Amino acid sequence: MSPMELIIEERVRRVKKAKRSVEEERRETVKRWQRLWSQSNKEKWTRKLIPGVPPWYYKAHEEINHFLTLLLTGHGDFNQYLYRIGKIPSAMCQCGSEIETAKRLFLECERRRSERENMKLKIGLDINTDEIEGHMIRTEKQWDAVSEFATRVLKKKMNEARTINA
Ligand SMILES: [Zn+2]
Repeated sequence: MSPMELIIEERVRRVKKAKRSVEEERRETVKRWQRLWSQSNKEKWTRKLIPGVPPWYYKAHEEINHFLTLLLTGHGDFNQYLYRIGKIPSAMCQCGSEIETAKRLFLECERRRSERENMKLKIGLDINTDEIEGHMIRTEKQWDAVSEFATRVLKKKMNEARTINA
């Protein structure tokens, strides 16, 4: 279940149980997300980046950015998957040097270096080092930087794909 689906569930609960406050419902959503997050087998790197649902989350974020969701789950329209289901002719990254997975695109691809450096500056940490485990994203500002990073990287990928297919 994606964060987006949890938010939709919350909306449904709000309609069904009108007596509960918005804050109560959001706390419930965060609790559910935290539970799913700790149970799921997502790739280690996403866990490093966002170790859990931050406590301030339900106050600040009504919507979860679609691109951030892709970064967090590592699932979606990445070339490795698109190729496997026959949607595109190659699993390679557009840089031509590797199979494109979420991890490679976000953390390793040379063509996304400037976006990555920009995010590292904003969050004040190096996302490839091991010492950050569990302490990565603590503030809303850092969260926003990761969200912005995911958006930029994926929008560029979509634009490039459009150019190639045109
Ligand atoms: Zn690449």
